[in-house]
Amino acid sequence: MTANLSQTTLSGFVSLVGAGPGDPDLLTVKGYRVIQQAEVVVYDRLVSPDILALANESAEMIYVGKKLDYHCVPQDQINQILVEKANEGKRVVRLKGGDSFIFGRGGEELEELAEHGIRFEVVPGITAAAGATAYAGIPLTHRDHAQSVQFITGHVQKDGREIEWQSLAQSNNTLVFYMGLKQSGYITEKLLETGLDAEISCAIIENGTRREQRVFTGPLKDLPNMAKEAVSPALIVVGSVTSLHDKLNWFSS
Ligand code: SAH
Repeated sequence: MTANLSQTTLSGFVSLVGAGPGDPDLLTVKGYRVIQQAEVVVYDRLVSPDILALANESAEMIYVGKKLDYHCVPQDQINQILVEKANEGKRVVRLKGGDSFIFGRGGEELEELAEHGIRFEVVPGITAAAGATAYAGIPLTHRDHAQSVQFITGHVQKDGREIEWQSLAQSNNTLVFYMGLKQSGYITEKLLETGLDAEISCAIIENGTRREQRVFTGPLKDLPNMAKEAVSPALIVVGSVTSLHDKLNWFSS
């Protein structure tokens, strides 16, 4: 492991770091190191306080978190903060929940940095689909259940582009919906319409990998009712792998 100390003191540098889904121990060693070295940390809502506490006492901590339907700081302003701080010659960490390239707008932020000629690196994180299912004892693939897995945004209508539902509805495909809680009625309707069995097993994992994690399981037809019980952040997992939760559930607080 080598630190880019000499390079980064000469000009600004941005590390785009995925903080993982919640349990602070799921941060990568590289993420840990760059957070400790950061002069500025620009962070989102889903980043655990234990991870923020790793930053140097003198680091400038800038919160730009967003909630669904409520954007604290607009995206172009976040981009501007990153560009400004890097242009001041600072070592900046842009810290996001999960992995920055999975429904995290990491690509958009890097495009902006690239356009301004700012150097950057990407430190991957454990995305919620991997972390939350691992802690729920739900293997995303399994030879007896699923030969493929898809990550889908449930934030469907607002994004404008409709999901290709037909390509999702196969019994040996695990579906993981991010940001799907509010849209669970619509998601269920579409999956049933395109031919998924109403009895196929599904799960909602709330606060995955955190002490307060809760897992709800049931048939697809009951998903909208299950969703009424759950709070954000939560993932919806559809597929027969979710039936393994009862047998493989190992994590309890
Ligand atoms: N970049 C992140 C995803 C950001 S979108 C990643 O790679 O994980 C935010 C959505 O992620 C939430 O609405 C929820 O669906 C999911 N999510 C994030 N953290 C979660 C957690 N600890 N448990 C369950 N779902 C989570």
